Amino acid sequence: MSLWLSGIGVSRGVAIGRVQRMQGAALEVRERRLAASEIEHEITRYYGAQRRAREQLSEVKARIPTGTPAEIAAFIDTHLLMLEDRSLTDAVVAHVREHKINAEAALARQRDALIAVFDEMDDPYLKTRRDDIEHVTDRILRILTRSDRQLDVQADENDPTIVVADDITPADIILLGQQRVVAFITEFGGPLSHTAILARSMGIPAIVGLHHARQLMRDGDPLIVDGDFGHALIDPDPKALDFYHRRQQRDADNRKRLARLKDEPAVSQDGVSIRLLANIELPEEARAAAEVGAEGVGLYRTEFLFMNRHALPDEDEQYEAYSRVVQAVDGEITIRTLDLGADKQVDSGRSQGPTPNNPALGLRAIRLCLKEPDLFRGQIRALLRASAHGNIKIMLPMISSVHEFRQAQQLIGNAAAELRREGAAVGDFEVGAMIEIPAAALAARLLARHAQFFSIGTNDLIQYTLAIDRVDDEVNYLYDPLHPAVLQLIRLAIDAGRGNRIPVAMCGEMAGDARFTRLLLGLGLTEFSMHPSSLLEVKRIIIESNIERLRTQADELLRSASQDEMRERVAALLEA
Ligand code: PEP
Ligand code: MG
Repeated sequence: MSLWLSGIGVSRGVAIGRVQRMQGAALEVRERRLAASEIEHEITRYYGAQRRAREQLSEVKARIPTGTPAEIAAFIDTHLLMLEDRSLTDAVVAHVREHKINAEAALARQRDALIAVFDEMDDPYLKTRRDDIEHVTDRILRILTRSDRQLDVQADENDPTIVVADDITPADIILLGQQRVVAFITEFGGPLSHTAILARSMGIPAIVGLHHARQLMRDGDPLIVDGDFGHALIDPDPKALDFYHRRQQRDADNRKRLARLKDEPAVSQDGVSIRLLANIELPEEARAAAEVGAEGVGLYRTEFLFMNRHALPDEDEQYEAYSRVVQAVDGEITIRTLDLGADKQVDSGRSQGPTPNNPALGLRAIRLCLKEPDLFRGQIRALLRASAHGNIKIMLPMISSVHEFRQAQQLIGNAAAELRREGAAVGDFEVGAMIEIPAAALAARLLARHAQFFSIGTNDLIQYTLAIDRVDDEVNYLYDPLHPAVLQLIRLAIDAGRGNRIPVAMCGEMAGDARFTRLLLGLGLTEFSMHPSSLLEVKRIIIESNIERLRTQADELLRSASQDEMRERVAALLEA
């Protein structure tokens, strides 16, 4: 009998195949006391395992087929770098010496300590770095304990495989991508996990967070994966198979049609031009943006440069990274200043205070930068120096008041003057605000007099408006981009920008969700920034839309007399 299961659909599309479970059960690590004479040998054994891990990852890297999205190689590079990091070299060796324990146990202790720190973090993007620690330590542990993970997939042409695992590392994904794997299901992870990010960029349907999947499925079970809705159907009947085969065909036709849109201008039926930009996290992703014809980058998250390390990147290192992005991006580039919080500084050698009770409401993003002007100054100077290679837009996250924005603006002005005095080249730059706190949206009219652009961050705007933690599974069901309050705030920000003649973009996930494109066009949005993989679908909808008509519909729905009426009008607009 067929059985439906639900998880979180993180990479769209339908796949039909057979289950192959990947046994990646957590390794049991036994602690063993060492005699003094054994210690040096144990340390040599640890370094040997480290070396082997490096070789394995280099082999995986060498096997990456040409044309694979750049971020995949970048993930492997991150793991290679982590292997060199003191936290996985000297610190582990120190555990062996100090506690006189075997290398596996020393590494497991160090892993648990690092993970505990990441678990306390609030930012979902940084949280995903916890996965990196697990993946890298797991690789070394398996070498030490000689228990390699079984990765060979038995698939043939007519019987593609759907891999069901506890979690999948980026390296595994590369190896599996070369076999006939048509979808992934993992028991853990969220929409921001690496499995999700990679599956999206490889265009492979994926579901994460499907708890107990490996217990509920057996190897060889026929399975349908619906990545759009996060459904998995075990043992489908002929009717379901027929339905999903037709959907697959429709999706394939759609992809072909979309690819043809790459060089088409994003202009609506009634002649309104819309700007489509890409969100990137790593300089290497600039290529993916160009491949779908993005007009530039609307959000480059700089936090990634600060992660997995003990010391902060200095001004020169930052300058190198930003210059690389500016040179790689053809078109405009918006670089966001650091969006870190007090609880996320652990790896950077800065002193840590106690963990705040509500980190999302605490000292983070621009607040942290204003409190620590040296941290901010280094980044700003690096950004301004990089602006000599191409115009940049400097975007300030988590702005909550005009005062805060002006303070940051002043520091940026000072840094530019200082650089010019030093004889450094500074190009053209603009300074804008993210609108991601309800206060900023409500005061957008005032902010717009000072900011040179706005970008709406719906991920946080929804979190703060509805008072729900965006990474808490328990309240995820309340995370509603269509909530009337959210729509009103978006509208306020767009209108304030228009009233003051400054551009307003949106760079939260909502901008890349094609289900909302018509609504956002109706609300007056003219710049969308999103993951490159969503861009062509959004463009298609724009090209087919009559924006004037959508604006009338959106105006009417915002005037609805009741929440139900608004829901109905939103549904009518989305479905029309
Ligand atoms: C947002 O909040 O919508 C946003 C784009 O920023 P982040 O997801 O990095 O917080
Ligand atoms: Mg945000």
